[in-house]
Amino acid sequence: MRKQIAAANWKMNLTIDKAETLLAEIIAAEINLEENHFAVFAVPFPYLQIAQRKIENTKNFFIAAQNCYSKESGAYTGEVSVEMLQSLNVKYVVLGHSERREYFQESNQFLAEKLNIALEYNITPIFCCGEPLSIRDAQTQNQFVAKQLEESLFHFSKDDVQKIVIAYEPIWAIGTGKTATSEQAQEMHAYLRKVLADKFGKEIAENISILYGGSVKASNAKEIFSQPDVDGGLVGGASLIAAEFITIINSLK
Ligand code: PEP
Repeated sequence: MRKQIAAANWKMNLTIDKAETLLAEIIAAEINLEENHFAVFAVPFPYLQIAQRKIENTKNFFIAAQNCYSKESGAYTGEVSVEMLQSLNVKYVVLGHSERREYFQESNQFLAEKLNIALEYNITPIFCCGEPLSIRDAQTQNQFVAKQLEESLFHFSKDDVQKIVIAYEPIWAIGTGKTATSEQAQEMHAYLRKVLADKFGKEIAENISILYGGSVKASNAKEIFSQPDVDGGLVGGASLIAAEFITIINSLK
């Protein structure tokens, strides 16, 4: 059974007091997660350790980093290694978010290096892909997103590729309040699964969780997550409000 994941992406938001309160409120809701349901919180680097301690006794709750560097260690001022994440017991890392791609020029090739090192250290990458509006308008989104997968994931073995979680996030839907329809999400997710099946085989593709991201909120999560190829969501804005994110977690199928 594929993992169903509600992943919060806090981005560069919240002070430590607010972050602790938010996590405490969500933990206090005592959500009874099924075996294949997971809640993941991608918090800013300075909060990783505190957040990790807070969630460690909550079943199927995990902390994620929002990024990592591609090198093991050394003179890379300002960067954070996967070995550091591992030493904090962090189990997930978000890689290739469109904001990293746009503002920090992260290429598919560079992301492939980050994915390699994350897997080497047994940290599950949540690999983001998705097209800008111009590409959607030109109706070339399938080719665009397939290329992101090809250039960042196709060098992996069948064993390794199934350790990766994919998040499809159409850029025109991120932080805009404009959600892809559940049909648009399903259509792209089914296509991505086919791209993975063509390369790695159907059985492997069936094991890979593909999350949807882009203005998911309490009021639309259930419908989007109910699509057969949508395995939960990566959530920005709505993950900063306890009641919203609790409902989103409870919307996993
Ligand atoms: C995101 O940042 O990954 C995201 C999907 O943001 P939002 O939910 O705010 O659109």
